[in-house]
Amino acid sequence: MKVYVTSTPEVEKNEVDDVVDLLSSVAGPIKFKQLPSMSYEAINTFVELDESFENIRTMSFDGLFELCKTYRRYYLQSEGITKDDYVVILTSIRNEHKWFSSFRGNDIFVDINDWEDYTGKNPMYGIAYQVLENIFQSLMKLNIQLGEVESEPNVHWTSIGCINDMCQNKKDIILKLRTGDICDSCQNRFLDAGNSIEIGTQIQSNIENIRKGLVRKFTEKGDISPKKIEVRKDGKVYKVFIEGVEKPISFEALARTLYVFYLKNLDGVNQYDLKNNYGQLKDLYFKIRRGGDEATLENLIVIGGNSTFYKEVNYINKALNEALGEVLVEFYLLQKVDNVYKISLGEEYISIDKEL
Ligand SMILES: [Zn+2]
Repeated sequence: MKVYVTSTPEVEKNEVDDVVDLLSSVAGPIKFKQLPSMSYEAINTFVELDESFENIRTMSFDGLFELCKTYRRYYLQSEGITKDDYVVILTSIRNEHKWFSSFRGNDIFVDINDWEDYTGKNPMYGIAYQVLENIFQSLMKLNIQLGEVESEPNVHWTSIGCINDMCQNKKDIILKLRTGDICDSCQNRFLDAGNSIEIGTQIQSNIENIRKGLVRKFTEKGDISPKKIEVRKDGKVYKVFIEGVEKPISFEALARTLYVFYLKNLDGVNQYDLKNNYGQLKDLYFKIRRGGDEATLENLIVIGGNSTFYKEVNYINKALNEALGEVLVEFYLLQKVDNVYKISLGEEYISIDKEL
């Protein structure tokens, strides 16, 4: 299932980028794709409007869903959008009923205004939540037709912290954003409508991710600085020490080699480019693991199914997590950033034995 996220032309592209990135950070059967906005000129050509689109500030639900249909037709050929795919338009144009968002079939619009006021955080969290909420409600066939929504059993008129809270008082929206919950009755209804547990889980993990971004954190009360990290000999063996942590980080020799390599290459190295740095890796490996087996090292840099690279990265990050805890560990993790693996730590915090 694909969800195409786009916007009306007045919305900054990077706002849409942020929302799509956030939605795509959880893997699963729903794939989020970004579509360019349509230009004012194209919209004025393809949509019947009473005035030029540039001058419109409020639209009816019918008008907004007609706009979704237009985007669908406009990108049908180039993107191969099917009727089962979703089209989501993010817009700063207000809707007649002042709803946060709405859906009709597989078409969705989301009002991008005011989210920073409601949440106190980057607007992407509230907007991404609205995208997920509408997909969920559409999949569970929630009846939100005006005049019928009042008797829909799975719309909660009194907020309970479920994705289907109505939030007539708009400020209540923060409650469901901070609980990240979907109540039992709504989960059952979703499954009874023929949806898979995988899709439900992806939506749930996504809103959990958003919840984590929205809760108030102690770390916002002040800055946390990293502690110094040192690679030095402990007896005859080179080990990795972090200031304030009693024991060396428990890495096996290969993981230690890889970690020290990345400490020495702070700009990052793509996993496929490790072979171009084989000399440096080999030198480190045999200093760290005297009498080591070169085949073990070679398995780290091969490309394809036999590569042990990802396994070692997991070992490294797991050991760091165990030693450091959630907040501090962020400075030391070996993570993929902009297409390279790297440790995001300043050089001034690192000291490595001269022999290495
Ligand atoms: Zn519910």
